[in-house]
Formats: sequence, C-alpha cells, structure tokens
Amino acid sequence: MTEKIATTDSGAPVPSLEHSLSVGPDGPLLLQDHYLIEQMANFNRERIVERQPHAKGGGAFGHFEVTNDVSQYTKAAVFQPGVKTEMLARFSTVAGERGSPDTWRDPRGFSLKFYTTEGNFDLVGNNTPVFFMKDPMKFQNFIRSQKRMAANNLRDHNMQWDFWTLVPESAHQVTWLMGDRGIPKTWRHMNGYSSHTYSWINAAGEMFWVKYHFKTDQGVDFLTQEDADRLAGEDADYHQRDLYDTIEAGDHPTWTLKMQIMPFEDAKTYRINPFDLTKVWPHADYPLIDVGRMTLDRNVVDYHSQIEQAAFEPNNVVPGTGLSPDKMLLARGFSYSDAHRARLGVNYKQIPVNEPKVEVNAYSKDGAMRMKLATDPVYTPNSMGGPVADDPRRVAEAHWASDGDMVRAAYTPRAEDDDWSQAGTLVREVLDDEARDRLASNIIGHVSDGVKEPVLSRVFEYWRNVDPDLGKKVEEGVRSGQG
Ligand code: NDP
Repeated sequence: MTEKIATTDSGAPVPSLEHSLSVGPDGPLLLQDHYLIEQMANFNRERIVERQPHAKGGGAFGHFEVTNDVSQYTKAAVFQPGVKTEMLARFSTVAGERGSPDTWRDPRGFSLKFYTTEGNFDLVGNNTPVFFMKDPMKFQNFIRSQKRMAANNLRDHNMQWDFWTLVPESAHQVTWLMGDRGIPKTWRHMNGYSSHTYSWINAAGEMFWVKYHFKTDQGVDFLTQEDADRLAGEDADYHQRDLYDTIEAGDHPTWTLKMQIMPFEDAKTYRINPFDLTKVWPHADYPLIDVGRMTLDRNVVDYHSQIEQAAFEPNNVVPGTGLSPDKMLLARGFSYSDAHRARLGVNYKQIPVNEPKVEVNAYSKDGAMRMKLATDPVYTPNSMGGPVADDPRRVAEAHWASDGDMVRAAYTPRAEDDDWSQAGTLVREVLDDEARDRLASNIIGHVSDGVKEPVLSRVFEYWRNVDPDLGKKVEEGVRSGQG
C-alpha cells in the first residue's frame, strides 16, 4: 500500500510530524514553523459550544420505508406508499453536559432528519409522549433548575423538586421519568414520540391533527436505578457504545412508526386540549395507525461533523406536514434554528449533514462560512426568471384560525384538563405492582438525596395528588430514611 504523505490544511506536504523548528537542537522555536502553529491553533478551536440542553448524544444514519397507505391523511412524499427515504437519528440526554453519563435518569432526545424529495423533514422528539410544561415561558427556567447551581456548580435535587412541585403540570412527565422508562436499557430499547401534536394535510387540502409514535422493535427495556448508577461509573458512554457497536456488528435496530390521527374538527370539542404537551391522547380515543419502519444501519465516520454539527429543528416541515397551535411547539420553531445559528453560524444548513438532497433555490445570501455559490437574481420579485413560490398549490390548504385579544393566559380549560389525572392513570392502570414499587423506590431515593423543607412537604402533596397510595408510600419511605 502506498503511504499517504501528511499535509497541512492547505494540502502541502508536512516536513516533520515529530520535530518543531528550532534554532539548533536546543534553541528557541521559530514563528515560521507554520505547521506547528496550525496544529496548535486548530487544537485550541476543536470544541464548539455544546448544545443547551441535549448536549450528550450519539446517532446514526438509516432509512425510513412506508409500509402502509396513509395518503388519505397526508400528501407528503415521504409518507406515500412504498417510499424509502434516507435519514439521520440522534439520541441524547437532556440535562447532562457533553461528557456526562448516558445512564442518568432523564428524558432522552429522539431527533430525526428525513432527507426527502421535498426538502428536509425533521422530527425533534423525545422518548416520552409528554413534557414537563405546556408554555414555553417556563422552559428556560426549567432547564436551569435541572442543571447546576450558581455558587457551587453542583446539580441539586432540592432545586429540581422545588421547580416541579411549583409547576404541577409537570406531574405526568415526572411520574413517567421516575418510572422504569426514565432510564432506558439502551437507545435501541426506547420508543420515540413527537410528543407535540402536529398537522398533516392531504392532497385535497384537508387538515388532520397527528401524533407520531416510533415504537421500538427491539422491545422497551430499562435499567434499574442500581444498574444505571453502577454503569454511570463504569462506562459513561454506555448507550453511545451500544448503538455504535451494534450497528458495526451488522445488527440494525428498527422502529415502527404509528400515528394517532384526529379529524380537524374534533380538536375544538375534545375533552382534553389536544395541543397540551402535558397530556396524551388515550389510545382508545385515537388508535395507532401503522405507517412504516425506520432502520438505522450506518454509523457516522466523523462524530463531530455528522452528529455534533447535526442541526434538527421542528420547523423543517415539508408539504403535507405542519405545526399546530401547541405553544411549546411554536416556540421551538424559533428556538431551535436560533440555537443552531448561535452554535454553528447562519449557514449551518450548508454543513453536509444538514444539507437537503434536493436542489436549494433560496434567496438567503452571504453570511459567515457560506459554502454554496449564490446566483443572480439575488432578490425577488424579479423579471429574470428567479425561483417562484409554491403558492398556487399551497393557498388551498386548510389552516387553523384564531381570533381574540392579545392575552397572557393558560389554555382555555377543557373537561379533563387537570394536572393529575393522566399521571394517576399511568400509576394505577398501566404499571403493574413491581413497576409501581420501583417507581416509589426511585422517587424515595431521589427525594432523599437533598430535598429539604419547604420543598419536601410539597413533594408529598404532589404525589398524594397523583395517587394517594403512592403519596403515602413516598412520605413514609422518605421519613423513615429508606432512600
Ligand atoms: P393504554 O393502556 O392504551 O396505553 C398505555 C401505554 O402506556 C402503553 O401503550 C405504553 O405506551 C405505555 N406504558 C407502558 N408501560 C409504561 C411505563 N412503565 N411508563 C410509561 N409508559 C408506559 O392507555 P391510554 O392510551 O389510555 O394511556 C394511559 C396512560 O398511559 C397515559 O395517561 C400515559 O401516562 C400512558 N401512555 C399513553 C400513551 C398514549 O399515547 N396514549 C403513550 C405512552 C404512555 P407505548 O405503547 O407507547 O409503549
């Protein structure tokens, strides 16, 4: 095999990979040792700002194949029968920093990018069907409460429970988090949910409200708190290693996409606000409809370029898919692209992993690190044959209407919109006795680690509201020092 000659970043052969240029073997170093300086300067700039939040993660490439016919609900090319689309997935924890253990109790990010024939379609989901809040005004403070305190830079359970108990709409998600699914066995053993309600639009322009459920074909599995704690010390990258090694060994994990689909008009009168991110739509009301299968079968070759610089955003929608009046989703439409502009620069969509596979005919121009050549005309309207909008096809599409004064208010309450019911259903009707015991033990352990009055009393009340028996068990467990 011919040996490759190492080069500088500009492609010129490197004279030495061992010795810097000095005045005599024992003399001072010289500024014209361009290669040494290039190496040091590059090294100093290797790290980019980590994601805030979802900093620690990993992922892989794959494809999504439609196995059913859902064309009556969406005209999106990516969801038409038999269509196969290349994609990228990234999984992550939420609160931990880039080197933090994969097995901390936390929701997991489940971000997908589909390189469709109509542009990139992203779903920035989680492994949970709900979230801690329903209004984006609370999000930033929520994340701060899950991360580190100002003075000692430590994470703090008192701070976490202080926030959760003062925001009772968190109860459903916290119940879910403290249960078995709060620590997945591997990323392959968890489901992915859009969590938010999105919209689909069919060829006739009719709109539907939809939720995406990616069900793992490996089966849902979890780690006990004890195993997770041990693994956090033994192998902080346990989930990342598992995904990479499994794919490398030729064992390709798959997920089946199933949808819940709500007719447009139902949303107005449904007993639960269908745009409230702290609630699920019970399966009995909106059963799951099969759509297709996602397979991850190709590891990245450069983690930094293909995962650290991968930029997912909920507003990457394609014709036939759209957002909804979920306030959290609408805010994410701004915050994700803003985060990418801050971390990666305004031209982040030209980084190869984020580039669509279709021709881009955008009027965006210039900016730092532009890679693609702009072409005239650089403005619109123009009389030079520049790209035109898709409006003749799109104006006929359904849309949601809104009217009223500008207000700062909670969603208008519906018949079953309280903070506790669905959390209570999960505890009483979904979990079995062993899972309920593990839930209580996980809560007791978590709360016993530093939660103090006045937060502590609120914790007991919180769990009594979710389920009286569970509340009693938690209080007895914490007071008797079981944690
Ligand atoms: P179902 O009995 O039809 O569904 C219960 C669902 O709970 C299961 O399908 C499963 O979701 C999920 N589940 C099972 N074990 C656990 C666990 N240890 N932790 C978290 N979730 C678990 O009832 P409903 O649809 O009426 O929902 C009842 C409750 O189930 C909800 O209040 C919610 O807490 C929870 N749930 C509901 C989901 C939904 O979209 N309707 C989705 C996930 C949870 P899956 O099949 O997705 O694995």
